[in-house]
Amino acid sequence: MAKLTFLGAAGTVTGSKYLVEAAGKKLLVDCGVFQGSHDLEERNLKPLPVSPATIDYCVLTHAHLDHCGWLPCLTRDGYKNRIYADPATIELTTLSLKDSGHLQEEDAERAKRKEKRSNPADLRPLYTTEDVEPMLKQLAPMPRSGGFDISPEFHLESYDAGHILGSCSFQLTIKEGGKNTTIIFSGDIGRYDQPILKDPQTPPNSDYLICESTYGDREHEAGDPLQILADTVNRIVKRGGSIVIPAFAIGRTQTFMYLLRQLEDEQRIPRIPVYVDSPMALSATDFYARHTEDHDLNMAALDSAHKDPLNLHEFHLTRTVDDSKKINDVKTPCIIISASGMVTGGRVLHHLANRLPDPKNAVILAGFQAEGSRGRALQEGAKILHLFGEAVPVSAEIITMGQFSAHAGKSELLRWCSGLTAAPKKAWLTHGEPSAAQALQAAIKDKFSWDVSVARYLDTVELV
Ligand SMILES: [Zn+2]
Repeated sequence: MAKLTFLGAAGTVTGSKYLVEAAGKKLLVDCGVFQGSHDLEERNLKPLPVSPATIDYCVLTHAHLDHCGWLPCLTRDGYKNRIYADPATIELTTLSLKDSGHLQEEDAERAKRKEKRSNPADLRPLYTTEDVEPMLKQLAPMPRSGGFDISPEFHLESYDAGHILGSCSFQLTIKEGGKNTTIIFSGDIGRYDQPILKDPQTPPNSDYLICESTYGDREHEAGDPLQILADTVNRIVKRGGSIVIPAFAIGRTQTFMYLLRQLEDEQRIPRIPVYVDSPMALSATDFYARHTEDHDLNMAALDSAHKDPLNLHEFHLTRTVDDSKKINDVKTPCIIISASGMVTGGRVLHHLANRLPDPKNAVILAGFQAEGSRGRALQEGAKILHLFGEAVPVSAEIITMGQFSAHAGKSELLRWCSGLTAAPKKAWLTHGEPSAAQALQAAIKDKFSWDVSVARYLDTVELV
């Protein structure tokens, strides 16, 4: 009998890992790191409850670290087989994991120099760029659309999730004993009617459903994102301040760049320098041009108009630590976009250490901020942030812009679910903090009368 084990993203928003076992084979759907509180991140250091050497296949919904960031550990601990993902996800996962390896090395080096951590495990990177290389060789492309046989036991259909480039929802067909069982993995569900990315698609009716619930208890702030961004930039620049946006170099960064460029061209904001500070910084425009199937930017039309919607007038990519530090010397208004998005590590830490004490500056939080993360602390009004063993006063303005979230809000999650015209036999909610998952559970019961539960960490369920 097929079964499914929740190895992560159960009771929390990060660490997505689902183990499907059927016909004597094991398939891992996603392999993310836990992010947020210290206790949660400790889980990353522990071995998987199932030996990676016994897993036969792995498949990725998208390239965010909470869905792919534990892959180097999986390979290091014995996983020898292919990791399937669509071409854009492969490229982004490569970038993201190299970036993450570099940043973890940089963080560990800095921690060693300071030697202020009480736990020596904090001084070791979870993995290094060297650990990442062997795993990258296991990445194997699967089609962006249409069906794909992972093996005789597992068939996968991909659907646009509208969350980041390459992001998918899956319908998995499990073939066992002459019987087919279908299960949907929502992955992370994006937004409807947003710039650049296509709308999320709901896979067809299935026996079982695993659905994310990140914003299961909340709607995003209303309002025209373009106007809100213009007003914010103008207000901060007018008082001589700079803006720090914690984010990974691909995805929301381009949404910001696209809208900032539009505002610049319409002369609704002044032209100011924008720094994308990442060790693996790349030309986003080239990337988007290579993966036209993943977005609805009309690259050909834009090219013929000699206009690059993803490049700002004063745009800088910084790769080295020295270049990154030089941004500290910029005293006139600028925008700095740097990882990590939840301020759990990475170069954004030193930008915040430098910019937070000045009330002229602002921090824009656009992504989800997990419980226990520094990003959440900022969002909840912390007056002090601990960075590099120092207590940094938070005097800068902290702005949450849910309009730029890459995650569906509550009503969008329900809209996505309404794409299923028949009730699944059973649904489980994952990838949400308990209050969010429970709120979505109540809303789904109320609206669709489905049998829906909140998934529990390490629970195994039978798919009959
Ligand atoms: Zn995601």
